[in-house]
Amino acid sequence: MERILFLTHTDSSGVLPKATLEVLGAASELARDLGGAPLVVGLVGGELQAAADSIAGCGAESFLAVSGDEFSVSRYATDAAAAEALVRKSEATLVIVPATSRFSRTMPGLAQRVDGRIDTHVTALHAEAGAPQVERWYYRQRMVARLSREVRPWFVLIDSGVFPAIDGVAGSASLEKLAVEPPATRTQVVGEQAATAEAQTIRPDAPLLFVAGAGWTKRQADGQTHLPEAEQLILDFLGKSQASLGSSKSLVDQSGEGEAVLSFMSHMNQVGQTGSTPRHPKGLATCCHGEEPHVVGWRFIKERRAVNLDPGCGWAQGKADVLYVADAFQVMRKVNELLRS
Ligand SMILES: Cc1cc2nc3c(=O)[nH]c(=O)nc-3n(C[C@H](O)[C@H](O)[C@H](O)COP(=O)(O)OP(=O)(O)OC[C@H]3O[C@@H](n4cnc5c(N)ncnc54)[C@H](O)[C@@H]3O)c2cc1C
Repeated sequence: MERILFLTHTDSSGVLPKATLEVLGAASELARDLGGAPLVVGLVGGELQAAADSIAGCGAESFLAVSGDEFSVSRYATDAAAAEALVRKSEATLVIVPATSRFSRTMPGLAQRVDGRIDTHVTALHAEAGAPQVERWYYRQRMVARLSREVRPWFVLIDSGVFPAIDGVAGSASLEKLAVEPPATRTQVVGEQAATAEAQTIRPDAPLLFVAGAGWTKRQADGQTHLPEAEQLILDFLGKSQASLGSSKSLVDQSGEGEAVLSFMSHMNQVGQTGSTPRHPKGLATCCHGEEPHVVGWRFIKERRAVNLDPGCGWAQGKADVLYVADAFQVMRKVNELLRS
């Protein structure tokens, strides 16, 4: 019988990341599907009782914790030591971990340390004839595969935005604290510096992905380009909606060619085959024609709409649930007006 360890950490304010609640639901479902495999929760962080209480009713047989000031911050050495203690104590065969940036850094090394194996970017869990299987995408999200492994412990890092978050599981958890001597470290964490809200246009947890295409920088009906207005419309919309900003490759590549560009756009925003494939419940593509952003970049977007002047835009037609044949300048001006009121 498999033993499942659900492993996560708190953020700097002592709260569990959103992805925790998504992946925890999937882990307890898998435990059930495996015929009642024991589920243990392992937590790493500063003070952990409140976090454990917030998921007390998830069906875990026990809650293990490595806590203290040294373990409250994201740092490979201390995170790996804490997580190793939790893996060994739980005697887990399957370690299920939400793919936060903090644990995505730590788990591959830890899998090596405990002589296990790891799969990352997992998007589904299954039980097949009493054995666990995972699903992940290959070839830039074009092919999906289901796989199993013999080696244990098997670490499975699960992407955020895949499962709905569980709720209604708060209660009172009995926390077993493991004593772990923090390893000697050279890295002192002196604080966190986040980008300002205006500078930070990539928001993985946003309900909406707004994709801007190269059309925003093209000559419009009056024969002129309208870059300052395009910038202002997009930034205004992002500020009001708190949507995440994606871009087509053509748009971000223009900076390399010395052409006028949207100043806040970088290659980090690019979605598609050679960009990212984010997960948001909704997507809105504007001034965008490309195959890659629509087919690959939108692969995991659940409800998709596009605004394009061209009624024959095959990709917007084929891949969007709704295509508005309209001028995106006019549409976004109106949308911003409505959001303002
Ligand atoms: C190997 C390879 C990998 C690639 N990887 C990627 C990738 O990862 N991501 C990616 O995005 N591309 C990728 N591409 C490029 C891709 O094929 C397209 O060239 C690109 O996506 C086109 O960008 P676009 O739609 O923004 O621009 P365009 O094709 O120039 O389309 C602009 C659109 O804007 C519309 N438009 C103009 N003005 C308005 C207006 N006022 N209102 C409404 N609509 C308007 C036009 O009708 C047009 O449809 C890749 C290409 C290759 C060869």
